[in-house]
Amino acid sequence: MYFINEDYINSLISDDTLFNEAMQHDIIQKASEAKGITLKESAVLLNINSPDLLDELFHTAKKVKEKIYGNRLVLFAPLYFTNVCINNCLYCAFRRENKELKRKTLTINEIEEEALYLVLQGQKRLLLVAGEHPQKSNLHFIGQAIERIYSINLSGNNIRRLNVNTAPLSVEDFETLKSFGIGTYQCFQETYKFSTYKEMHPVGPKSNYQWRLFAMDRALQACIDDVGIGSLFGLTDYRFETLALLSHAFDLDEKYGIGPHTISIPRLEPALNAPAALNPPYAVDDLSFKKLVTVIRLAVPYTGIILSTREKAELRRELFEVGVSQISAGSRTAPGSYKESIDSLKEHELEQFQLGDHRSLDEVVRDCTSLGYMPSFCTACYRSNRTGDRFMELAKTGNIGKICVPNALTTFQEYLNDFASDETKTIAKPFLQNEIERINGAARKKVEVMLQRVNNGERDVYL
Ligand code: SAM
Ligand code: SF4
Repeated sequence: MYFINEDYINSLISDDTLFNEAMQHDIIQKASEAKGITLKESAVLLNINSPDLLDELFHTAKKVKEKIYGNRLVLFAPLYFTNVCINNCLYCAFRRENKELKRKTLTINEIEEEALYLVLQGQKRLLLVAGEHPQKSNLHFIGQAIERIYSINLSGNNIRRLNVNTAPLSVEDFETLKSFGIGTYQCFQETYKFSTYKEMHPVGPKSNYQWRLFAMDRALQACIDDVGIGSLFGLTDYRFETLALLSHAFDLDEKYGIGPHTISIPRLEPALNAPAALNPPYAVDDLSFKKLVTVIRLAVPYTGIILSTREKAELRRELFEVGVSQISAGSRTAPGSYKESIDSLKEHELEQFQLGDHRSLDEVVRDCTSLGYMPSFCTACYRSNRTGDRFMELAKTGNIGKICVPNALTTFQEYLNDFASDETKTIAKPFLQNEIERINGAARKKVEVMLQRVNNGERDVYL
């Protein structure tokens, strides 16, 4: 349908001539230039099975990610404010026919309490998430929630970027959403395969495939120029889904000169009384998942790839290697579960799906640091007007790293000074020193001055 050409994608998947090792090798070489690859070339890479070529593929994705973004990993947490929903997505515990789920919508004060908890963990960017409901998650309520969250400030510690993952809106409503000062607007197509989409979304506004497919066009027309797309892997053949997701990214780039700011890669997790999640129709194994993440990184090198705590810690570590650039940490998917004691809450009765990584933010930060990745809480681009084509220009030319690295360092230093455990501080100290020494010339001096300002108590120091 439109920019999703199912026949063409299916022809790529079933084309035997694309299982060619010489061709696979040549395309990996081309991809190493970090300028992207075509849809057909992506299909060829998805066919790689030889262990040597897989190694080459993974290694190349790592190099490409480092070339564009350096070794930083941006951290965030989701904030779910309602699990009430009028849709009935067969994979989600929030679906309206799920009578086993306890329904809960936070008040504005409760949303503030959740955000406050997250600020006190050291988070600086949040993703606001909700079920779709005309009263419980309407635009007016979202606006109030955003205003309240942004108003929190604890001696310079605050939420500096609020991204939003909610139901798609009209252009006019997207304009209102933008006026609330959001960062990225996210919406996942779930599956681009029309027949599967219809099967998975039997009723409610979400059953309209086309309304959702063009959500990002409307958001961009409303001048929300950081948009995040995604597929829910496990609903249909992962090769189809990856190529369709890339078709969407290429289409946005061609039409607006702005590709997606981020691509999310949720994989189906078990969810209470959600038939498609308990028995995924096309479950994706770990190796195929790693391969598809790699191909996305090589096809759209400039795009952030977001990995959530749906995945277990060991696999998350492997995926950092092949190009993931943003991760959630210390997450909960049940409204109100940050603040309340998890045991007494019986989280599974309220949550959207089960998580694979239950570690705290501090544990994830420590783990990333010991693996050589720099945790970043940076929110500078959006506040310095480096969004949309301005961001893309820097990312596509490989210049964004010059800004990301200093900002990652200052925000990491803030985290260490204000929130880190002693264990994390001990690991981070030599790591930070080493990172500073890797910066050459005048840029290093500039970073040292910025870090000194942070160590003198100033907060929110950025380029
Ligand atoms: N209700 C809105 C919607 O569907 O667009 C907003 C966000 S929904 C709460 C967030 C995302 O969670 C969905 O887009 C879907 O991709 C993902 N999700 C739902 N059920 C899931 C499951 N069982 N496992 C993993 N991800 C799931
Ligand atoms: Fe509702 Fe979103 Fe869950 Fe579907 S995925 S049931 S729209 S919360």
